[in-house]
Amino acid sequence: MRVLGGFGDRLTAVLPARSRMVRGVADIESVGVVGAGTMGSGIAQVAATNGYEVVLHDVRTDLVDAAFDRIGARLDGLVEDGDLTADERADASARLFGTTALPDLASADFVVEAASENPDVKDEIFAELDDVTDDDIVLATNTSTLSITRIGAATDRPERVAGVHFMNPAPVMPGVELVAGERTSDETLAVADAFVATLGKETWTSADTPGFVVNRVLFPWIAEGIHAVEEGVAAKADVDRAMRLGTNAPMGPLELADHVGLDVCLDVLETLHDRLGERYRPPPSLVRKVDAGHLGTKTGRGFYEHDR
Ligand code: NAD
Repeated sequence: MRVLGGFGDRLTAVLPARSRMVRGVADIESVGVVGAGTMGSGIAQVAATNGYEVVLHDVRTDLVDAAFDRIGARLDGLVEDGDLTADERADASARLFGTTALPDLASADFVVEAASENPDVKDEIFAELDDVTDDDIVLATNTSTLSITRIGAATDRPERVAGVHFMNPAPVMPGVELVAGERTSDETLAVADAFVATLGKETWTSADTPGFVVNRVLFPWIAEGIHAVEEGVAAKADVDRAMRLGTNAPMGPLELADHVGLDVCLDVLETLHDRLGERYRPPPSLVRKVDAGHLGTKTGRGFYEHDR
């Protein structure tokens, strides 16, 4: 017997019509962003400069304030460089709201979660987002490595949960990786794709596997750069210089690691190592730096010293 569309479609067919509907991109006015760190602040900025009202959430007021300071400084830089007018800057700022209460995202038409890369944290956030937001909106996660299927399972709407993986820095990088979990609907992915297009970015899709495309390929490169320093192949500045001058990479692997955040790098490598095997084992000097709290640009010290 031939089963049209497979099991997922048969499940969908017995659900009431209302629960299959996804709020379309034309109806997105307000965007919720959960997590005001490196990525959340960047995603909030991109959404605000592209006309969306944004509610940015983190667990503490000082974290939201710090994100607003970073966004403000970046917007000032865009005005100085002539990429944004003073009026556009003022409009974007007026569209940005901060909160430490997740229920303040109740009026969001689309949510991007960019909280710490920890499966338990994400599960908890998605369970609460499912409760506080409208049933028909897409809940997107910016996870670098975690399973979209698992994150979706923390909700009663796994068909409306998708991976929307912005690159760092989100305001600058032109591409976004889209990932469907086992139960993500085509309609949800189409809304996510259309939303990303309104931010002036392009997309590609990846299967729901650890690291998706970008981090699966990128992180062995970062880890190998660190191993090369550990094994005395070259000094760290020379490894970075070699990869910049020798391959036209905009940053070398250790510079990039500092920029990503060494704690985020370690989380990503540990997940890839657990799921994909030995070639992703985190280098010992990376583990030591994270243990010491030297996390890269965000703490002012990582493999290099940075002005904050
Ligand atoms: P980050 O450490 O800079 O920020 C994470 C933020 O999440 C912190 O401010 C933290 O307080 C907040 N947070 C923790 N628990 C929370 C909760 N329960 N509710 C709300 N906020 C909470 O991390 P980041 O680099 O911005 O990464 C965020 C996500 O984006 C991760 O899933 C990461 O894998 C992914 N990502 C990171 C990069 C990168 O280069 N750093 C690139 C792409 C994707």
